[in-house]
Amino acid sequence: MSHTITLLPGDGIGPEVTNAMRMCVDATGVKINWEVQEVGEKSLQRHGKPLTDEVLGSIRRNKTAIKGPITTPVGKGFRSVNVQLRQSLDLFACVRPCLYYEGTKTPIKNVDLMIFRENTEDLYAGIEFDLGTPECDRLRTLINEMSPKKIKQDSAISIKPISVSGSKRIVKFAFEWAVKLGRKKITAVHKANIMKFTDGLFLQCAKDVAREYEGRIEFNDNIVDNMCMQLIQSTFMYDCLVLPNLYGDIVSDLCAGLVGGLGIAPGANYGDEIALFEPVHGSAPKYAGQNKVNPTATILSAVWMLRHLKEDSAALRLDKAVRTVLKEGVSVTYDLKSDRNDPTAVGTMQMAEAICKKL
Ligand code: NAD
Repeated sequence: MSHTITLLPGDGIGPEVTNAMRMCVDATGVKINWEVQEVGEKSLQRHGKPLTDEVLGSIRRNKTAIKGPITTPVGKGFRSVNVQLRQSLDLFACVRPCLYYEGTKTPIKNVDLMIFRENTEDLYAGIEFDLGTPECDRLRTLINEMSPKKIKQDSAISIKPISVSGSKRIVKFAFEWAVKLGRKKITAVHKANIMKFTDGLFLQCAKDVAREYEGRIEFNDNIVDNMCMQLIQSTFMYDCLVLPNLYGDIVSDLCAGLVGGLGIAPGANYGDEIALFEPVHGSAPKYAGQNKVNPTATILSAVWMLRHLKEDSAALRLDKAVRTVLKEGVSVTYDLKSDRNDPTAVGTMQMAEAICKKL
């Protein structure tokens, strides 16, 4: 059976890592019809916007997509295309597996964590009011009328919405995955001691959902700052984490650090019908076009994509091939060598070729 997949190469190093990924997936023998679509800076130049309806239409039609990173200008320019994609396609669950691969540079060995991040709400919802705008002034006046705590006049305001429906569906998703993957325990991460209403609601929803899985999956909760320390000091006490959007973003990068850095960490975003796979790392513009960066995170994202497509044996073979190349440590990119200036480091495509040879 062949699959039609939307491929978004993205910005910066995106085209290189997605090319490397595509070569590896094609080498597994799984028949993929790649529908390549422009997003980000190229789309902005050509169509005047970084994300077009055509791209969204392609993903909606094909139901499965894989992307490279997309540049988001800081504090100016267009809103994050990643956030727009997640919101427009209602990709409410971000899954980030953090698994140890021998040969990677890690502070701890054998880490095996699954992170489930809510993807559509929270401070990431994009509801922001800029300093000095009439909307910001109106909102500040309204809040200052209603709240004993006052907002200063020289403030910008971001809104943090957390809903019962949004919280319950990500926690339910995490529990269902934990059952499917044979995991043992879920920890809900929050800051409900300070944000009693928003994070408090997330925690209450998590407790409600957890009750349905009593006896099957263990459940506890932890405050996000303490969680960051515990993940370093007592890593093996944890199995699966479920978090609201912003903490999920930050903690998943921390966990990427536990398994060897951004070059290694894969990710996926799921809605009820659509799945979009992507590496955790960004577009690393300073390395763009140099055939230098590590393609592993994107190739491992494709392993999860193959599992999603029920191509389990190809997924297993590709995962094993990546494992072998990493363990050998020969045909790997600079970031995987003990000395980053090691002249034996290979380029992005050469590492992908080495992986293909192990299939
Ligand atoms: P980044 O992940 O692009 O790069 C940070 C550093 O990590 C790089 O300088 C490099 O040293 C290392 N790195 C990243 N990917 C690597 C790889 N594959 N191999 C080896 N080393 C790698 O983060 P940034 O510099 O904060 O962000 C750059 C741009 O990417 C920004 O515009 C940001 O908004 C965007 N971004 C996009 C996504 C996404 O599309 N999902 C995610 C994060 C950041």
